[in-house]
Amino acid sequence: MSRVIVIGGGAAGLIASWRAASLGAEVTLLEKTSRLGTKILISGGGKCNITHAGETEEVLAAFRPNERKFLRPSFYAFGSQDVLKLVQHNGLKVYTRPDGRVFPVDGTARDVVDSLVSHVRRSRVRIRLDSPVLGIEKTEPGKISVKTAQESFQGKVIVAVGGSSYPKTGSTGDGWEWAKRAGHTIVPVRAALAPMDVTGASTNADWRPGVALRDVTLSARQGKVFACWRGDLLFSHHGVSGPCALGVSRDVDERLGDKVGLEVDLEPDLTQSSVAQSIMSWARKNPRKHVISLTIERLPNSLGALFASSLGQDRHRLGQELSEKTCFRLAERVKSWQIGSVAHVPLEKGEVVAGGVSLEEVDYQTMESHLTDGLYFCGEVLDIAGPVGGYNLQAAFSTGFVAGTSAANPSPKS
Ligand SMILES: Cc1cc2nc3c(=O)[nH]c(=O)nc-3n(C[C@H](O)[C@H](O)[C@H](O)COP(=O)(O)OP(=O)(O)OC[C@H]3O[C@@H](n4cnc5c(N)ncnc54)[C@H](O)[C@@H]3O)c2cc1C
Repeated sequence: MSRVIVIGGGAAGLIASWRAASLGAEVTLLEKTSRLGTKILISGGGKCNITHAGETEEVLAAFRPNERKFLRPSFYAFGSQDVLKLVQHNGLKVYTRPDGRVFPVDGTARDVVDSLVSHVRRSRVRIRLDSPVLGIEKTEPGKISVKTAQESFQGKVIVAVGGSSYPKTGSTGDGWEWAKRAGHTIVPVRAALAPMDVTGASTNADWRPGVALRDVTLSARQGKVFACWRGDLLFSHHGVSGPCALGVSRDVDERLGDKVGLEVDLEPDLTQSSVAQSIMSWARKNPRKHVISLTIERLPNSLGALFASSLGQDRHRLGQELSEKTCFRLAERVKSWQIGSVAHVPLEKGEVVAGGVSLEEVDYQTMESHLTDGLYFCGEVLDIAGPVGGYNLQAAFSTGFVAGTSAANPSPKS
């Protein structure tokens, strides 16, 4: 019987330990903190966007090409339908939003964790909470020794310790040090799906935290636009957050050595010319009103004033004073409102991190290290970061499943 030690009781480790034990392996799950699935508990604002529905290739398309290639066998082995079947086994019901994101119905992330943990317990995994692993070491071919402060273990080892964002959840990047010692390359770890701190906004006095813009496009620009995301944008104390900010943050962080400007298209469905036409028609109907009152009417709370301040002297013009040229200039601002440049993308506040154990050095059919037999990696410890939408949990579940399968049924070489 294979002896398998799974390090980390998050999404990847729970599935890996359940899968390996279901296949008959003797499995010990070592979790640093006093509970399992902590990051799942805070996912999707406590609601847990469990996965993303759709054809496997469509789900894979959300990832960068090298990640997609790496994940393909895992997603076919254990895709979103398999995850849903598993979590629904205990009566949890789920629904799919029109954008493909799947959530529990009338339930929370707690129900998802309870469902996963019940599978792990039923498959007789030995669970050790409050057991931070201090290090791992290769002992003999195909066997790794794992040390906690109290005990040591030996067997096949699955490293499922996650990344390093939200470190209070227990995920503090421990796996990268172990992987490095085993000779693995660690792709530099960077922020992804994170809020962004912004400087140089037209008037910071009008920058009001907590205000949201619905359905706009946020673009990141260095000369040319290199990333954009459509959705809601939230103004926070130091900058921007919400789906749009998270959506561009990975690309922004990668280019932050040079200045990155952010701009918002407030009317993504309209051309500049049709925005200009509607400003002209407003001006005809409101000859005695100032432009600033138009922006205050149209934008939530203080954002009208913030946007108006970006219009310079035009904001004080009356409707009757607006020439066609001015209307086009105002429309240009509506379509590309410069809100400032990015000062910092805080890695620790991201929903995931990009970077980690290089995919080149892990077998994508088995999750086993190319460098050390009997050592497996799964979940966010790997150099994988999908967009918002249930993709990251799915990547953790799928790679966890494959790691559990292969550690329980090692290939002949190990
Ligand atoms: C606020 C937030 C919201 C999110 N929302 C979503 C969402 O709705 N949908 C989605 O798909 N993704 C979401 N994500 C991302 C998703 O939660 C992660 O990608 C996923 O949980 C990664 O799973 P993992 O098992 O690889 O790592 P983790 O979930 O981080 O689990 C790693 C586990 O390893 C343990 N560990 C670490 N070091 C050691 C050690 N030395 N010894 C023993 N144990 C150790 C940790 O305590 C932890 O329990 C969100 C993330 C955050 C932070």
